[in-house]
Amino acid sequence: MSLIVQKYGGKSLATTELIRDVAQRIVERRKEGFDLVVVVSAMGDSTNRLLALAHEISPHPSQRELDMLLSAGERISMSLLSMALNEMGQASISFTGSQSGIVTDSAHNNAKILEIRADRIRKELESGRIVIVAGFQGVSLDREITTLGRGGSDVTAVALAVALGALRCEFYKDVDGIYTEDPKVNSSAKKMESCHYEEVMTLVKKGAKVFHPTAIELAQKHSIPLYLSSSFDSEPGTTIKSHV
Ligand code: ASP
Ligand code: MG
Repeated sequence: MSLIVQKYGGKSLATTELIRDVAQRIVERRKEGFDLVVVVSAMGDSTNRLLALAHEISPHPSQRELDMLLSAGERISMSLLSMALNEMGQASISFTGSQSGIVTDSAHNNAKILEIRADRIRKELESGRIVIVAGFQGVSLDREITTLGRGGSDVTAVALAVALGALRCEFYKDVDGIYTEDPKVNSSAKKMESCHYEEVMTLVKKGAKVFHPTAIELAQKHSIPLYLSSSFDSEPGTTIKSHV
């Protein structure tokens, strides 16, 4: 079966009701006949709330303990989403970055993925389950939990799409696509059906927070088509690829 990697942003998973909506979307996609790996961010602004807790305790918390703390955010959304899917009769299992075999260097708070040992994910896919993966985190060679830097779940999603040979990597966020201009500034801006990686990179360099830059670089390098759409409606989004 062809594999699609999907990624849902924190705003799309901010409440248990939204988590159920996302589970419903996943079930529908599954009915189209795809194997699915789903990468999640932490619910709503929970990463910021965890950071605030750390700073209530210490003005300069250790980077290692920060990674232990912040990686917990994605564990909450991954397990709740998996429960929602199982509740709907769709077999599913959630994995942390470490359980997913995402091996990083040891740069706490800003680690780079070195390799993905995806055998456990593959085994679960073969048994017919949907695999939910906690974004933004991995494990270093000395078995410490690491995080990939803010917004790092985008990187997790593309890196998994590369490692698993996915058809494409779909992003569902509170942004519904890539526009010709900033739609907040110019109301005549049009959503593009498709565009090139470079166009998105230019937007990101100008400060648009649509994607983590490393995610685009990685997708371009390995020619993984990206798709960006809203999780709040069913309007078509934008496909990002090399040949538009
Ligand atoms: N939860 C992390 C953050 O807010 C990672 C992510 O959302 O991609 O930065
Ligand atoms: Mg987040």
